[in-house]
Amino acid sequence: MAIIVDGTLVFNARDPVVLEEKAVAAAELLRQGKLVAFPTETVYGLGASVRDERAVSRIFEVKGRPVDNPLIVHLSDISELPGLARNIPAEAWTLARRFWPGPLTLVLEKKPWVPGVVTGGLDSVAVRVPDHPVALALLRAAELPVAAPSANISGRPSPTTADHVLADLAGRISAVLDGGPCDIGVESTVLDVRGGRLRILRPGSITPQEIAGLLQRKCEIVELSADKNPPSPGLKYRHYAPRAPLYLFLGEPGKVTVKMQEELETWLSRGKKAGLLVTLESAKAFSGYRNVELIVPGSRDDPAAMAARLYAALREFDARRVDVILAEGCSPKGAGLALLNRLQKAAGENIVQVE
Ligand code: AMP
Ligand code: MG
Repeated sequence: MAIIVDGTLVFNARDPVVLEEKAVAAAELLRQGKLVAFPTETVYGLGASVRDERAVSRIFEVKGRPVDNPLIVHLSDISELPGLARNIPAEAWTLARRFWPGPLTLVLEKKPWVPGVVTGGLDSVAVRVPDHPVALALLRAAELPVAAPSANISGRPSPTTADHVLADLAGRISAVLDGGPCDIGVESTVLDVRGGRLRILRPGSITPQEIAGLLQRKCEIVELSADKNPPSPGLKYRHYAPRAPLYLFLGEPGKVTVKMQEELETWLSRGKKAGLLVTLESAKAFSGYRNVELIVPGSRDDPAAMAARLYAALREFDARRVDVILAEGCSPKGAGLALLNRLQKAAGENIVQVE
């Protein structure tokens, strides 16, 4: 009924006919305090029962995740929200009714029983209902709120396939439900709705414009660069990074291409193998080089499609053993904001602003 990779059960849940049966088996593991990875529409999550503090602690251990970086609680239905959160503002209900199931995480005041290990010791809790048939089947069968960060080793690119999960965590977790590749491919938008404000703590595929449009008021975007005490603890850690250093080039596309070519030639002249992540529009300028691995995630006009392929591309560069990655940036408009944020996080300090 399942194959086993290094001691981790792999349930094939791609076929809707067997989904229910696999979800019930995986839910039983969650109830026993085990860790189960599952697909969502954003990325694969690594789940544990919110009611089992030991299981939640194990998430931090197996990922190597800093304990002050809180987890998102996943629910099967909006009706479960009052079980986790209190003083829920009317606007939070409006957002949840509009965007759930979907890639919007709401930060709310937590109910006292929600363990601090889930919330990184904060008095708030982050909650969402994922929009994926496998995730929803698992949550319904478990009849539990499930705490789940991305199912990768901390700092590595988030997983968008079951194979990515196994590459990082086989042998360290009980099971993974394989639901095929994730559609969106970047993590949810995290929105703090407390204190009468709307603050995006992490951009995702639901844009500030959509949120502001629905509520007819301003939605702030919290400065994405990390400081010592950012409102979303995850902001202060380097993230989403492949093994090779990634250089991100920002600026007017024509000038970026020229600068990237110069840099590329320098790396190649030193005998290095380079990975190139460029848009469809720029790809031709890089077609003549040797010792280059070229990945074209999509068109400049479709940042959502590029975002969906980003993490797989970063893992692919690792598999092809490149020494360095040169990546073309994008405009922060619409879905571009989330893509740019993940590229910046993967680049760390290596950001080249081309004038
Ligand atoms: P991950 O699921 O691995 O993408 O990590 C969850 C993200 O949600 C991290 O960036 C956290 O900092 C953020 N997050 C979770 N809970 C809270 C919270 N209570 N307040 C602010 N941010 C949160
Ligand atoms: Mg993560």
